[in-house]
Amino acid sequence: MAKKLIITAALCGAGTTKAQTQHVPITPEEIAADAVACAKAGAAVIHIHVRDENGKNTMETEKFVEVVGKVRKALADENLDTILNLTTSGSAFSEELRLAHLPVLKPEMCSYDPGSMNWANSYVFLNTPAFLEKLGTKCQELEIKPEIEIFDAGMIGNVEYYLKKGFLKAPLHCQFVLDVPGGMPGNLETLAYLLPKLPAGSTWSVTGIGKAHVPMMLAGLAAGCDGLRVGLEDNVFWEKGVYATNEQLVERAVAYGKMAGREIATAQEARQILGLKKHQ
Ligand code: ZN
Repeated sequence: MAKKLIITAALCGAGTTKAQTQHVPITPEEIAADAVACAKAGAAVIHIHVRDENGKNTMETEKFVEVVGKVRKALADENLDTILNLTTSGSAFSEELRLAHLPVLKPEMCSYDPGSMNWANSYVFLNTPAFLEKLGTKCQELEIKPEIEIFDAGMIGNVEYYLKKGFLKAPLHCQFVLDVPGGMPGNLETLAYLLPKLPAGSTWSVTGIGKAHVPMMLAGLAAGCDGLRVGLEDNVFWEKGVYATNEQLVERAVAYGKMAGREIATAQEARQILGLKKHQ
């Protein structure tokens, strides 16, 4: 039987605004409602960023506690068992603050971005060596599975380094986030470059940003991905000129996965595939 497909919903990211799409969840209540809708639609993993009162990206622990508390309660009220993956990115914030929510909330997963790059020619997406060592150590202490987000070619080489140094532990789970300007393009050539470089035993998932969203989903399925990531963090459109909701994007990933002969993993199945430790 074909391996089950893990769908991750990336609900809002750090940058998607209401001006871009009214569907993006910004408030704790909106994020919780979208988490429930996406879990019901087939997402095993919900990837979370949080915003302040003005809708601006924040890494304040207090805000994570509020949002994750609301998300966990909303999921529990609907009897939904879902994996939470909290972001650790946030170049504008201190490295301490970027880690501070992890011991408090003990998510099953968090993002781990193994390198820096010029993000869309606008700012430095900063992940210093010291930060990556601290984050790797923290993940092991707290038994949080890092999701290794690969945006650029050099990052896959850094992964080898942190594995060798013991800051990362195999088997890894890598998320290819492709077509961010400044990173690798979302195309087959990129996948063909990255896949043979995955450390042995790794699982992998893929998302394409913007117009690369659907093509990379199809390419990932053709290449036998373990997971697909969709959501308004990465893409706001259903098709050109038509705005999507997170729920619709998850539904489409489920449909394409099934079309490719894959069954969709429940959160419990995803835990087994990814070797996660349930904390709650
Ligand atoms: Zn993210």
